[in-house]
Amino acid sequence: MATTTPDAKTPTSASDVASDVVVIGAGPAGALAAARLATAGHRVRVIERERFPRFSIGESLLPQCMEPLERAGLLDAVRAGHYQPKNGAAFTRHGLGTVIDFHDKTTPGWSDTFQVERADFDQRLIEAAQARGARVDFATTVESVEPDAHRPALTIRDETGHTQRLETRFILDASGYGRVLARQLGLARDPRLEPRTALFTHVEILLDDDFDREKILIGVHPNDPQLWYWLIPFREGRASVGVVGDTATLEAAGNDAESRWRALIDAEPRFAELLADARPVRPIQALAGYSADVERLHGPGYALLGNAGEFLDPVFSSGVTIALRSADMATTLLERQLAGERVDWDTEFEDPLRAGVATFRAFVDAWYDGRLQTIIFQRDPPAELRRMISAVLAGYAWDRDNPFVSASRRRLDVLAELCGHPMGGAS
Ligand SMILES: Cc1cc2nc3c(=O)[nH]c(=O)nc-3n(C[C@H](O)[C@H](O)[C@H](O)COP(=O)(O)OP(=O)(O)OC[C@H]3O[C@@H](n4cnc5c(N)ncnc54)[C@H](O)[C@@H]3O)c2cc1C
Repeated sequence: MATTTPDAKTPTSASDVASDVVVIGAGPAGALAAARLATAGHRVRVIERERFPRFSIGESLLPQCMEPLERAGLLDAVRAGHYQPKNGAAFTRHGLGTVIDFHDKTTPGWSDTFQVERADFDQRLIEAAQARGARVDFATTVESVEPDAHRPALTIRDETGHTQRLETRFILDASGYGRVLARQLGLARDPRLEPRTALFTHVEILLDDDFDREKILIGVHPNDPQLWYWLIPFREGRASVGVVGDTATLEAAGNDAESRWRALIDAEPRFAELLADARPVRPIQALAGYSADVERLHGPGYALLGNAGEFLDPVFSSGVTIALRSADMATTLLERQLAGERVDWDTEFEDPLRAGVATFRAFVDAWYDGRLQTIIFQRDPPAELRRMISAVLAGYAWDRDNPFVSASRRRLDVLAELCGHPMGGAS
C-alpha cells in the first residue's frame, strides 16, 4: 500500500509494490503506453508533473502515428477531438509553392492524420488511459529513480511537498523535455545537430477558401535557407505559427520574442501575406536547444520513450510519431517480459527504433544543408522518387522496402545531384 512520509525531505523506505509499471509523464508516449498496458490488465501508475490540460508544442501529426494509436484502441478518443484533418505538406520559397500529398506515398497504410492542439489531444489520450484503469497522479514530480532489473524504484513529490518511494516492476520514462533518466543517469550524448531556437505562438487567422488547410505550410526564409517557418491550421480560425533557425540569427531579428517573431514573419512574402491581420492569442514563446540524444534507450528495469530518449528537429513533424512508435514497441515487449518471457531490448527495441530515427535524421540533415530543399522545390521531380519521399515525410521511416529508408543518405545524395544541387553525390 502507498505511504506518504510525514517529513517531506526524508523519503520513507516503505514501498509501494502495487504497480507493475510506473510511467513518468502523461504526454503522448506515456499515455499510449499506459493505455496499452492497462488494457492488457497490468497495474499502471502514471506520474505527471503538470496539471492537465497544459500547453505543449508538437501539433502536426504524421499519418504513420495513426497505426500505434489504432493498435492502442485510441482512435475514437482522437476522433472525438474533431481536429483539423491533415494529408500532406505544402512548401513555399521565393514565391514558389510545391506540395507533398501523403496519398501519393509508396508505403501502404494511413495517408491522413490530424493537426491538434496538444493541450486537448494529450488530455484526451490520458483520459482514455485512465478509463482503461491506469492511475494518474497529476501535479506530482518524479525526483529520482533507482534502476534495478527486478524491482526498480522512484521517489516522487506531490505539490504539497510530500515525497513517496514507489517500487515497481518496470519504469517507462516518457518525461519528454524533462529527460528524467537521461539527466539522472548521465545518459545524454551530443545530438549531432546544430543548436537551434524556435519562436512560436497560436494566432487567430482567417485563411482564404483556396488555402489548403489539410497541409502544414512550411516556408523558407528568402536569404537564409536554414531559417524556416511553419503554419499549422487548426479548426475554427486558429493556427500555430513558428519560425526556427540559428539562435544568433533569431536574436538579431529584434529586441524581444514578439518583435523577432513579427520581423521574421514579415521577411517571408507568403507568411507576411497570410499573417498580415493575424492576432497572436498566446505570448510568443522561445524554445532553444531542444535536440537531444542518449547513449542507450534502456537499462535495468527501465526504457526511455519519445523525447525522453532522442529528439531531432521539428522540421518534418516527426516528434509525436516517434514518441508513439517508441511507446508502441516498448509496451509490446514489456507485455511479454511481464508474462515471464525473455526480451532482448537491444535487438527488439533500441536497434529497430533507432533505424527509423536515423532515416528522419538523414532527411533533417539534407534539409538544413539544402539538398532536400533542392529536391522538394524541383519543378519536375521523378514521380516515383517523389512518392518514396512522400512516404518518409508521412512518417513511414521504418519501411525498409523504401530505398529512401534503407539507404537514405545515398539516395538523397543521388537525387539532389540529379536535381542540380552542388552537394549532391558528396557521400
Ligand atoms: C519547436 C518544436 C516544434 C515541434 N513540432 C512538432 C510537430 O509539429 N509535430 C510533432 O509530431 N512533433 C513536434 N515537435 C516535437 C514534440 O513536441 C515532441 O516530440 C513530443 O511532444 C514528445 O512527446 P513525449 O510524449 O515524448 O513527451 P512530452 O509530450 O514532452 O510529455 C512529457 C510529459 O512528462 C512530464 N514530465 C516531465 N518531467 C517530469 C517529471 N520529473 N516527473 C513527472 N512528469 C514529468 C511533462 O510535464 C510532460 O507532460 C516539436 C518540437 C519542437 C521543439
